[in-house]
Amino acid sequence: MTIDLAALAANYRLLARQAAPAAVAGVVKADAYGLGAGHVAPVLWDAGCRTFFVALPEEGIALRAILPEADIFVLNGLFGPEAAPAYGEYRLLPVLGSPTDLSCWEAFGWDGDAPRPCAIHVDTGMNRLGLTPEEAVAFAEENALTGAITPRLLMSHLACADDPDHPLSRRQLESFQAVRQAFSGIDSSLANSSGTFLGADFAFDLVRPGIALYGGRPVNGAENPMSTVVTAEARVVQVRQAKAGETVSYGATHTLARDTTIAVVSAGYADGYHRASSGSGVPLRQVAGGGHGFLHDRKVPVLGRVTMDLTMFDATDLGADAVSVGDWVELFGPNIAVDDAAAAAGTISYELLTSLAKRYYRHYVGGTGN
Ligand SMILES: *Cc1c(COP(=O)(O)O)cnc(C)c1O
Repeated sequence: MTIDLAALAANYRLLARQAAPAAVAGVVKADAYGLGAGHVAPVLWDAGCRTFFVALPEEGIALRAILPEADIFVLNGLFGPEAAPAYGEYRLLPVLGSPTDLSCWEAFGWDGDAPRPCAIHVDTGMNRLGLTPEEAVAFAEENALTGAITPRLLMSHLACADDPDHPLSRRQLESFQAVRQAFSGIDSSLANSSGTFLGADFAFDLVRPGIALYGGRPVNGAENPMSTVVTAEARVVQVRQAKAGETVSYGATHTLARDTTIAVVSAGYADGYHRASSGSGVPLRQVAGGGHGFLHDRKVPVLGRVTMDLTMFDATDLGADAVSVGDWVELFGPNIAVDDAAAAAGTISYELLTSLAKRYYRHYVGGTGN
């Protein structure tokens, strides 16, 4: 796995231009979508990013060690009174998304001014985390009297931002704008990567991109303006000649229609190359066909089932003797978009990136350190 840190920085700058005058946070949950938060976060910081989002307090604690000055928000909330002290100790900002979270943070012992800083998450149509708009407004009125909590950010999350025509986005925007009235003077944030491309009225004070930083396509059906950050490659470990009529891989789901040159490649589902990208024999997959590799300037299809550690590709069209043991096949990267590789497995770039197993060796290029 090659991770291009210069492309990451370029993506941050592109999003900053797109979102201006709003600021751009970095969403680095799940180890920066599998890319390695320890490498990604400092690059974003150097590009000007000062606000970061993680999902779990453990991720926040790890990030604090790298970025002593950053604002670190924890999206999944507080995890109960036992977890609250860690937020105090590591200066993590919980994103409070339920009445239970609110009362837990209100009860947390705090000395010093601007007590108990946090974000308030309001649900405007996702039905995942967040106070209802009514709960959020009631909280704002009460907290204005008690001052128990210091909201640093009001936020909500869009359900359909990747589809620019979906009517839910505008309804969520209107609902969010109504709640904002009760939080005057507090920054607000609604847009993820896709939302950053929905128009200026979605940007507010801060946008929260994740996938677009890592090169994923933010808007379905549109050209991807982001630079490729991740390239996954695997080595050919054997080249075999098989005859028409023979079958390939488990379940014998693929019968060769012609004499075939098979490139056997050292990557499989244990590496995060999904079994659902098999060329055939995936009962539940809705889409036709499977994944492709890119080998010597050509797209080569997966033959039969992806196995745990190995995947077979049809290299016949490359011509005789074009493939050798040791050649590298691109699984996704500059020639096979991560979104297309994911679609071939019936999933999305987010799942493909976050499932790249530890077994992948991560090679970082384009950083200021090399
Ligand atoms: C993961 C997440 C994001 C980032 O989403 P992308 O689609 O990757 O840009 C932003 N906000 C919240 C609440 C999230 O959970």
